[in-house]
Amino acid sequence: MSVKERIERLRALIKYHSKRYYENDAPEISDFEYDKLFEELKTLEAEHPEYNDPTSPMQRVGGAALDKFEKVKHEVRMGSLTDVFDFEALRAFIRNVKAEVGQDTEFSVEPKIDGLSVSLKYEKGILTVGATRGDGLVGEDVSANIKTIRSIPLELSESLDITVRGEVYMPRKSFERLNKEKEEKGEALWANPRNAAAGSLRCLDSKETAKRGLDIFVFNYQAGSFGDGSIKTHAQTIDKIASLGFKAINMLTISSSEDEIVNAVIQLGNSRADLSYDIDGAVIKVNSLEKRNEMGEGTSTPKWAVAYKYPPEQKKTKLLDIIVQVGRTGVLTPNAVLEPVKLAGTTVSRATLHNIDIIREKDIRIGDTVIVQKAGDIIPEVVGSVKEERKENSVPYEMPSTCPSCGGELSYDDVNDFIDDGEDFSLGALRCTNPSCPAQLERNIEHFASKKAMNIDGMGGKVVKLFLDNGLIHDASDLYYLKKEEIEILERMGEKSAEKLLSAIEASKQAGLARVLFALGIRHVGEVASANLASKFGSIDAIFEATEEQICEIEDFGLIMAKSVVDFFKKDTTKYITSRLKEAGVILEEAVVEKTNEFEGLTFVLTGTLENMTRDEASEMIKARGGKTSSSVSKKTDYVLAGEEAGSKLTKAQSLGVKIIDKDTFLKMCGI
Ligand code: NAD
Repeated sequence: MSVKERIERLRALIKYHSKRYYENDAPEISDFEYDKLFEELKTLEAEHPEYNDPTSPMQRVGGAALDKFEKVKHEVRMGSLTDVFDFEALRAFIRNVKAEVGQDTEFSVEPKIDGLSVSLKYEKGILTVGATRGDGLVGEDVSANIKTIRSIPLELSESLDITVRGEVYMPRKSFERLNKEKEEKGEALWANPRNAAAGSLRCLDSKETAKRGLDIFVFNYQAGSFGDGSIKTHAQTIDKIASLGFKAINMLTISSSEDEIVNAVIQLGNSRADLSYDIDGAVIKVNSLEKRNEMGEGTSTPKWAVAYKYPPEQKKTKLLDIIVQVGRTGVLTPNAVLEPVKLAGTTVSRATLHNIDIIREKDIRIGDTVIVQKAGDIIPEVVGSVKEERKENSVPYEMPSTCPSCGGELSYDDVNDFIDDGEDFSLGALRCTNPSCPAQLERNIEHFASKKAMNIDGMGGKVVKLFLDNGLIHDASDLYYLKKEEIEILERMGEKSAEKLLSAIEASKQAGLARVLFALGIRHVGEVASANLASKFGSIDAIFEATEEQICEIEDFGLIMAKSVVDFFKKDTTKYITSRLKEAGVILEEAVVEKTNEFEGLTFVLTGTLENMTRDEASEMIKARGGKTSSSVSKKTDYVLAGEEAGSKLTKAQSLGVKIIDKDTFLKMCGI
């Protein structure tokens, strides 16, 4: 592979994994592995400026702000940190800083909390905006959710105008409780507390966030003023932050001695397992605020701080076998069967190997002694094999040539085609092409019943398997024809659970067309696309008649998606399943939003919480009438639709004299 190709491959991989991590909150590789890809790209880009590209992931901090929240422009950029991975590099950082701003320079050492960064803005001592970092310049307004975190003061002990920065995290206990609940409900588990915290802080329903047990450590003062100018160091800032009522970060040491700093980092590393929350490193910062100013900032990180990243705990074990699982959309995933080994507090006996490329890249063979580690201390992964201990007769692993579940034909996706099917998000995946593959069927029914689809409580993977094995169901529509007598006699069932399950199935009939479409698992059609499809066509019958051209008229629908929908509705199985759903009384219709033009040329800004209406719904109504929405208020804004707890946008609209309307007026304007 040429350098240019490697750079392109690394950029694609980093973009893919960043999306998984920051936007989907579901990483596939360990942070350590991700950091290695990032370092490799950094080095190659520095060595080969001729391949520079402004869209390279190297140019960005973190992820993009998601559309489901209002966007907030940060007063002060929320940067990232430069990483160091060994003590040599840490010592070099300390020496370089001292050479630049003085040998007497002191450094602080703090835990690097593994959560997500937020900024908290207070006006006259009252919390007004809580926002995520986003890309560092623009984040998401998650104020309502932030306010559910009990350790965040809603009012400070002094009436100050300040913005502070902290890390929202999920304590290990809450994480374990939540994942247990998820497992019981048959839902996908969070990969680690960091992803759980990110997902929880970005819930659309703050009542849900409140149940997640989130917490925060505040570690920086971003903007505004503490008043009298007597604060000269980071340590004093942290004291002041604590005195205002925040839960401040633990300062482990303040020292100018290289050895003392390294020791503090080692000690923190040794105490990791005893902490009640996850850390992924230590942050070493210059203590003097004046010296920090003198040193300044790099493109996305300050020059006066580094993050020391702890390597994950690793153990040796045997790779007993590789078994291949078939996912809902037929993707084949190889999994390692390991000789059980105790790692970071739990016993590990399985680990995903993702795909054949990774197996080849790491040269992992059945029978090898392998090194395993836990990414973010949660997901076990095979790092590589110990070549010296390899048996002579070992052979490279090959993926099966036919589907291990049904013996059907397999085919590879295009490597450059990122497939996002909601569940199977894969890069160059190997798939079983048999539509009636039993393994796919099982995953499909599981998906059909899942929370975001028909939301049938209690219908997790184990129950689906139980029903399939006992011949009670053969496809998703059979769920609506189950009888109490046949369920209650099954193992681990009984009368009560059978009744509960049947009433959950009955309730799911009202889920609506959008959910039914998502539940059917049409390739390339996720939750949002399903909702758009439902509101454009209004009924399943109309979708059966729809052409690719008509489907392409829907915003965000491309040809591949449209073709996938048309192909799906041509299938006999689709006709059969949907007719049985209809017969059972499952709602397969939805009110069509007719496009009109009464809002043509008008721009709306939405702010605050609207009663019984999400901002997405209001936006859809505006768009359906030919209007536009914008995320910021300006003189060009025609209307600000303000709900409860409307914040700065409302104030700005008032000062600019923009017309402010409430939900009732808006509904009248819409003719509702
Ligand atoms: P970062 O997480 O390495 O460091 C910056 C962050 O550290 C800041 O946002 C800050 O909020 C936080 N922090 C915690 N405690 C702090 C303290 N005491 N002082 C200062 N800051 C503190 O950088 P990043 O840009 O957010 O993301 C990169 C990280 O995300 C890497 O660790 C990378 O491994 C991980 N990542 C992993 C994947 C994956 O697929 N596994 C993908 C993308 C990113």
